[in-house]
Amino acid sequence: MSSYNWCHNPKCHTYQTTDRIRGSGDNKVLRTRRIKITDYQNAYYYQGWENHFCRVACFFAYVKLHVDRIVAIAPVREPSETPIKIEKEKYESYRYKHDNNGDYQRVSFQSTRTKIIGVNND
Ligand SMILES: [Zn+2]
Repeated sequence: MSSYNWCHNPKCHTYQTTDRIRGSGDNKVLRTRRIKITDYQNAYYYQGWENHFCRVACFFAYVKLHVDRIVAIAPVREPSETPIKIEKEKYESYRYKHDNNGDYQRVSFQSTRTKIIGVNND
Protein backbone atom coordinates (compact mmCIF):
# COMPACT_ATOMS: atom_id res chain seq x y z
CA MET A 1 0.00 0.00 0.00
CA SER A 2 1.21 3.47 -0.91
CA SER A 3 2.12 5.64 2.04
CA TYR A 4 1.44 8.84 0.09
CA ASN A 5 -1.58 10.44 -1.54
CA TRP A 6 -1.66 13.22 -4.10
CA CYS A 7 -3.68 16.26 -3.09
CA HIS A 8 -7.17 15.75 -4.53
CA ASN A 9 -7.76 19.41 -5.44
CA PRO A 10 -7.55 19.37 -9.27
CA LYS A 11 -6.10 22.91 -9.12
CA CYS A 12 -3.41 22.16 -6.51
CA HIS A 13 -0.71 22.13 -9.21
CA THR A 14 -1.70 25.62 -10.43
CA TYR A 15 -0.85 27.43 -7.19
CA GLN A 16 2.46 29.20 -7.57
CA THR A 17 4.52 28.16 -4.56
CA THR A 18 8.19 27.18 -4.70
CA ASP A 19 7.61 23.84 -2.96
CA ARG A 20 5.53 22.70 -5.97
CA ILE A 21 8.34 23.30 -8.49
CA ARG A 22 9.73 20.09 -9.99
CA GLY A 23 11.83 19.18 -13.04
CA SER A 24 15.28 20.11 -14.25
CA GLY A 25 16.76 22.78 -16.50
CA ASP A 26 14.16 24.41 -18.72
CA ASN A 27 11.60 21.67 -18.04
CA LYS A 28 10.16 23.01 -14.80
CA VAL A 29 6.60 22.30 -13.72
CA LEU A 30 4.32 23.05 -10.80
CA ARG A 31 3.27 19.66 -9.43
CA THR A 32 0.37 18.61 -7.22
CA ARG A 33 1.51 18.31 -3.60
CA ARG A 34 2.11 14.84 -2.20
CA ILE A 35 0.74 14.06 1.25
CA LYS A 36 2.33 11.59 3.63
CA ILE A 37 -0.41 9.33 4.99
CA THR A 38 -0.49 9.62 8.77
CA ASP A 39 -2.54 7.71 11.32
CA TYR A 40 -4.57 10.59 12.75
CA GLN A 41 -7.29 8.41 14.26
CA ASN A 42 -6.32 9.32 17.81
CA ALA A 43 -5.47 12.96 17.14
CA TYR A 44 -8.07 15.25 18.68
CA TYR A 45 -7.91 17.64 15.73
CA TYR A 46 -8.41 14.94 13.06
CA GLN A 47 -11.22 15.86 10.65
CA GLY A 48 -10.78 13.14 8.03
CA TRP A 49 -9.53 15.25 5.09
CA GLU A 50 -5.90 15.61 6.16
CA ASN A 51 -4.61 12.55 4.29
CA HIS A 52 -6.24 13.63 1.01
CA PHE A 53 -5.65 17.38 0.78
CA CYS A 54 -2.45 19.37 1.36
CA ARG A 55 -4.27 22.20 3.12
CA VAL A 56 -7.79 23.20 4.08
CA ALA A 57 -8.06 25.60 1.10
CA CYS A 58 -7.49 22.66 -1.28
CA PHE A 59 -10.11 20.65 0.63
CA PHE A 60 -12.69 23.41 0.23
CA ALA A 61 -11.80 23.95 -3.45
CA TYR A 62 -12.61 20.26 -3.96
CA VAL A 63 -15.86 20.53 -1.96
CA LYS A 64 -16.90 23.61 -3.98
CA LEU A 65 -16.28 21.73 -7.23
CA HIS A 66 -18.07 18.52 -6.18
CA VAL A 67 -20.59 19.60 -3.52
CA ASP A 68 -23.65 18.49 -5.52
CA ARG A 69 -22.28 14.97 -5.91
CA ILE A 70 -21.00 14.86 -2.32
CA VAL A 71 -24.43 15.64 -0.83
CA ALA A 72 -26.04 13.17 -3.27
CA ILE A 73 -24.13 10.38 -1.46
CA ALA A 74 -26.31 10.82 1.64
CA PRO A 75 -29.03 13.38 0.90
CA VAL A 76 -30.97 15.00 3.76
CA ARG A 77 -34.60 15.49 2.69
CA GLU A 78 -36.14 16.09 6.10
CA PRO A 79 -34.87 17.54 9.35
CA SER A 80 -33.60 15.36 12.18
CA GLU A 81 -34.69 15.92 15.77
CA THR A 82 -33.09 15.29 19.14
CA PRO A 83 -35.50 14.88 22.09
CA ILE A 84 -34.66 17.29 24.91
CA LYS A 85 -35.95 18.53 28.23
CA ILE A 86 -36.00 22.26 28.86
CA GLU A 87 -36.43 24.58 31.79
CA LYS A 88 -37.54 28.20 31.74
CA GLU A 89 -35.46 30.41 33.97
CA LYS A 90 -36.13 33.99 35.02
CA TYR A 91 -33.14 36.25 35.39
CA GLU A 92 -32.32 39.89 35.92
CA SER A 93 -31.17 41.57 32.72
CA TYR A 94 -30.48 45.16 31.75
CA ARG A 95 -30.25 47.49 28.83
CA TYR A 96 -29.10 51.04 28.35
CA LYS A 97 -31.36 53.82 27.20
CA HIS A 98 -31.11 57.57 26.75
CA ASP A 99 -32.68 59.70 29.43
CA ASN A 100 -34.04 63.21 28.81
CA ASN A 101 -30.57 64.73 29.26
CA GLY A 102 -29.11 62.56 26.48
CA ASP A 103 -27.20 60.40 28.95
CA TYR A 104 -27.24 56.64 29.01
CA GLN A 105 -29.03 55.01 31.90
CA ARG A 106 -28.87 51.42 32.89
CA VAL A 107 -32.38 49.96 33.17
CA SER A 108 -32.93 46.59 34.83
CA PHE A 109 -35.72 44.25 33.86
CA GLN A 110 -36.82 40.65 34.39
CA SER A 111 -36.24 38.35 31.46
CA THR A 112 -36.71 34.64 30.76
CA ARG A 113 -34.32 32.26 29.10
CA THR A 114 -34.67 28.64 28.03
CA LYS A 115 -32.12 26.14 29.34
CA ILE A 116 -31.64 22.66 27.88
CA ILE A 117 -31.41 20.38 30.93
CA GLY A 118 -31.46 16.96 29.26
CA VAL A 119 -30.56 15.49 25.88
CA ASN A 120 -31.43 12.04 24.56
CA ASN A 121 -28.98 11.23 21.76
CA ASP A 122 -30.17 7.66 21.15
ZN1 LIG B 1 -3.35 20.80 -2.54
